Amino acid sequence: MSGRLLGPLRDLLVPPTCASCGVGVHAGDAHRFCDACLAEFPPLPIAHRRLADVTQVLSCSAFDGLLSLLIQRLKYERELALARPLGELLVQKALAHDLEPDLVVPMPISRPRQVERGFDHAWLLSAAVAEALGAPRVAALHREHRPAQVGLPKAERRENLAQAFWVAPEAPSLTGRTVLLIDDVITTGATAEEAARSLREAGASSVDVLTLAVALQP
Ligand SMILES: [Zn+2]
Repeated sequence: MSGRLLGPLRDLLVPPTCASCGVGVHAGDAHRFCDACLAEFPPLPIAHRRLADVTQVLSCSAFDGLLSLLIQRLKYERELALARPLGELLVQKALAHDLEPDLVVPMPISRPRQVERGFDHAWLLSAAVAEALGAPRVAALHREHRPAQVGLPKAERRENLAQAFWVAPEAPSLTGRTVLLIDDVITTGATAEEAARSLREAGASSVDVLTLAVALQP
């Protein structure tokens, strides 16, 4: 039997579990974390960043504790089953803030990094958001490979990122469109600002940024 058929069959035979801790969950919650895990992602009370070219920045929780571990398990241990329940966290945040974007755009990773990692985490995280909001998920941006940003102060991050993004020639027109940019973590916001600037220069009327987590600045 092909793997394509085995997947649905397995879902029927094996009761759904929380992708974080493995505890059983109700069938209707098959793509969500259990209540105990959800309780470990306390929502952030207010908008936490003001960025150029960005209308608002929304994040589900702090980059801390269980949420930071889950993001690392997705990105570095290739636990792709985490993409859907993490995506559902983004969906809940988007719905709570009545976001109605014309386009859902994942924050791109560079081609070498995607080859090295084997997948694009923001593309995966964006799937549930696009589906829930009824907006197309569009890989509208490309990103040039640059040295890792980790550890650089904001001014140097910005310099490192200058001209790092460009709009994909095959992307649909952005003129007058509202864009929701999706990423896993926001730190200084320099990356989001650069990506948003490229989208706005291509005609996007507004860019909101939605991330799973916000990291405290070093
Ligand atoms: Zn759990």
